[in-house]
Amino acid sequence: MNIHEHQAKQILQEFGAPIAKGAAITAIEQAESAVAALPGPVWVVKSQIHAGGRGKGKFKELAADAKGGVRVSFSVDEALENIREMFGKTLVTKQTGSSGKTVNRIYVEDGADIDRELYLSILVDRETGKTSFVASTEGGMDIETVAHDTPELIHSIGITASAGCTDSDAEKLADRLQLDGTARTHGMALFKNLYNAFVAKDMSLLEINPLIITKSNDVQVLDAKVSFDGNALFRHPDIMALRDETEEDE
Ligand code: ADP
Ligand code: MG
Repeated sequence: MNIHEHQAKQILQEFGAPIAKGAAITAIEQAESAVAALPGPVWVVKSQIHAGGRGKGKFKELAADAKGGVRVSFSVDEALENIREMFGKTLVTKQTGSSGKTVNRIYVEDGADIDRELYLSILVDRETGKTSFVASTEGGMDIETVAHDTPELIHSIGITASAGCTDSDAEKLADRLQLDGTARTHGMALFKNLYNAFVAKDMSLLEINPLIITKSNDVQVLDAKVSFDGNALFRHPDIMALRDETEEDE
């Protein structure tokens, strides 16, 4: 079972992960208050569909040269225009198939000052049942492409369940992602927080692409994809409620 980016970020924030300020809308009438809730000067308007590749996606109903499903906007008016243009339209991405997915929900968030885009995920190996982090300095593009072109830049770090994400695991991840200074300190705390969220919520996949290093050398979760083990959901009424809410708008 999958949830939307903004719902995933909400959960990760509860576990201490740094995310941008944002507001989600499920009806076009909510657009103005959502944009007004953020300070600017940059608003990023993000289609919420259960598929990645939104930034490079195309809307079926719009011209071929129209912008994609993630739009950086530099004024309130531009943000509103982007919301109106995307809302209710069909977004086709590498991951949706040719029929695409209808955008019934939009998330508006503060623009980040990006220095580097990294890749980080946590997953369970189906065969061994072991949990690993996967990390790469090559974030912001789809990981299949990185795996194909530069497999040596993808690193896997196994976690021992009884020990959890240790200092030594976090150090290794920070080395692989070439973190220093504040980004290293906050990154190491983030890895532990993400692992705690993964275990506590019975996630089967947690993918942060990109995890960014900001111009002020800090870390921020800029995109988040979370899948849950459906069999464990009876333990998580909060997530079941998200599922029920989400199914309504698809
Ligand atoms: P997707 O992976 O579905 O294309 P992302 O959330 O990863 O969607 O957004 C695509 C790209 O848009 C990111 O790699 C990043 O460069 C940019 N982006 C996304 N959110 C923000 C933000 N809040 N501030 C600045 N740039 C952003
Ligand atoms: Mg992404």
